[in-house]
Amino acid sequence: MALFNIMEEFVEEAMDDLINKSGCCSCYKCREDIKCIALNSLPAKYVSTRKGELFSKLSQTAKLQHTIDVNLACINAIELVKTQPHHDEE
Ligand SMILES: [Zn+2]
Repeated sequence: MALFNIMEEFVEEAMDDLINKSGCCSCYKCREDIKCIALNSLPAKYVSTRKGELFSKLSQTAKLQHTIDVNLACINAIELVKTQPHHDEE
């Protein structure tokens, strides 16, 4: 049975919109950095069911709390990458 971190899905869903709004670089490297930083600051939530199934089981309050946490983590990560982009390295 495959396990995956549902926070990864949440972050991926939230980050694109936030990157666009912030005017941050959206190249592959910066996006990977943002995702990495955001995920490291969030508690991992491992699930063994598909996202839709799990998400529908979460209470309305839990959904809202996750959305707020994920958005905050993404915004912080974007600010960090925006001031210190790593896309010129390698
Ligand atoms: Zn970049």
